[in-house]
Amino acid sequence: MNAAERPRIVVLTPEVAARIAAGEVIERPASVVKELVENSLDAGASHIEVEIGGGGVDRIRVRDDGHGVPPEQVADAFERHATSKLRSEHDLFTVRTLGFRGEALASIAAAADVDFTSRTAGADAAAVARVRDGRLERLGSAAAAPGTTVDARDLFAALPARRRFLHSARAEVRAVTDVLSALALAYPEVAFRLVADGRVALATPGTGDPRDALAAVHGADTAANLVAVTAARADAETGASVEVAGLAGPPSLHRGSRAYLHLVANGRTIGSRTLAYAIEQAYAGLIPAGRHPVALVRITVPPDQVDVNVHPTKAEVRFRHERLVFAAVADAVRAALAGSGVPLAPLPLGAMPSALGSDAFVREAPLDGHRVISGARAASMIAPAHLTDPAGGAVAEGAAPVLAGSARDEPTQGGLTIGDRLPLLRALGQVDLAYLVAEAPDGLYLVDQHAAHERVLYEELLAARRSGRAASQPLLGAVVTPLSASQAALAIAEAEALADLGWTIEPTDGAAVILRAVPAALAGRDAPGALRDHLDRMDAEERLTGPDRAAASLACRAAVMAGDRLDAEQQRALLRQLEACETPHTCPHGRPTMLHLSRAALDRSFGRR
Ligand code: ADP
Ligand code: MG
Repeated sequence: MNAAERPRIVVLTPEVAARIAAGEVIERPASVVKELVENSLDAGASHIEVEIGGGGVDRIRVRDDGHGVPPEQVADAFERHATSKLRSEHDLFTVRTLGFRGEALASIAAAADVDFTSRTAGADAAAVARVRDGRLERLGSAAAAPGTTVDARDLFAALPARRRFLHSARAEVRAVTDVLSALALAYPEVAFRLVADGRVALATPGTGDPRDALAAVHGADTAANLVAVTAARADAETGASVEVAGLAGPPSLHRGSRAYLHLVANGRTIGSRTLAYAIEQAYAGLIPAGRHPVALVRITVPPDQVDVNVHPTKAEVRFRHERLVFAAVADAVRAALAGSGVPLAPLPLGAMPSALGSDAFVREAPLDGHRVISGARAASMIAPAHLTDPAGGAVAEGAAPVLAGSARDEPTQGGLTIGDRLPLLRALGQVDLAYLVAEAPDGLYLVDQHAAHERVLYEELLAARRSGRAASQPLLGAVVTPLSASQAALAIAEAEALADLGWTIEPTDGAAVILRAVPAALAGRDAPGALRDHLDRMDAEERLTGPDRAAASLACRAAVMAGDRLDAEQQRALLRQLEACETPHTCPHGRPTMLHLSRAALDRSFGRR
């Protein structure tokens, strides 16, 4: 590029600069809700009501009963870097409020049409402001209860690029539900209510007891068995100190995602891999691999020992004495578990609770404690779903699909080599209740039983979806299924993908859905538990998106696990089904299902060639 072509450097107009700055704070409807609700909390509100329409893009309204803004200060509230919470740079190190940058209202007003109504306790009327394009257009007064209501409409109407990047309205509802769930757990003394597109998505009682807030957010059965966590630590030499308080679930309450770990630091909801790890450490050996505990941990340190200004949306903080905090959290949770009388010695493998929780179809074998597979899951292994007639009877084995030949002489189809098919495998046995050993004309195969079964079920589910015949099992009656508020929002957001797999789910108020049918692959199991697990797995599923994500997580939910004993017939059935798969070498997440040692490789290893 020569000098003539090179664009000149110019200072942006205030409008453009404001839009760019708004983009940093306001990423999606949930960020608007977070900022507005934090303002309500800073104003000392005891009731906060959030109403959103069109996933928050059409409308977000936050109403509180906090101390309000006097009329003469309303205009200032919408100025960038205007705040009542901070005076000097030094205050940054003692800040006790959630807000301090003075950016949120200005940013929201740059991204949406805002109407602001606020009345202080002493005033006889509320100030009403109409803000358009970030500018205060009109300031009047009206009758209103003390407190503040912010109404934001048409989010990102002036930022079409940002709008295009938003997810579906229902996915945005879920993000808002998650933000409010976290804040509700951090402020149990505040009553929160979220109404999303007409549905009450969350309502907490505001009793001050974190257990009550947790019951509203994650369901009463989850909250019932939590033990109290509390610890205090100090280091006289450095002056460091930390207090930890909260609730932790018993090891039996393990869940399929990390969404049940909540961290609060000096009143802020934070994400921290390190501290999540500290909590999970306390459960090491107590819950199965890949499962996660339920915990709410509130950390309090002196304000000058934490930097709250390290993240654009304040989702993280930096502790000055991170090791002390880490140790305090890990010890507090561990001590709480010890005090609750749960055995803390790691469980022997055979007695490890099933990763499938209350799965009625996995029972303990009387002799060695290893689980054996029976019932529906065993049947699904002997006869793949597509070979099962609707009445449930298995079709004769002779009807098994034609198996592909050896990997080398694959036929071609549409110009593409289908080099992926497996040769005929002969089961030789099971290793460590996790791997199958098999031989084929081209050598030795080691097959991961869980990954292989996942692949088999996944392809069956995709085939059923393509044919529009999701194998589904109606329940005898509709079951009101308690979920977490976030899971309920996820179930509603993904209702079509779930229906394609055989779930029939209807929305209802609160942290629950109505369940009418389950996928046939899960028939006979504890239906609400299976739905909860399936949703958690979808949540934890990071690599796949859309309907495939739902299918992959159902396959994972229904597949045999490592630790499941497979008899000879079950081993043969699984290998036969795997041979019939289109993509047998990887599980739906792309992990290998098998290792192949060719005859040539074996010969080389033994020095025969
Ligand atoms: P910050 O929260 O960082 O101070 P904001 O832009 O979010 O910046 O808000 C600007 C100011 O407006 C706040 O400092 C506060 O004084 C006032 N304010 C905003 N929302 C409310 C509310 N709901 N109740 C009372 N005051 C509010
Ligand atoms: Mg604020």
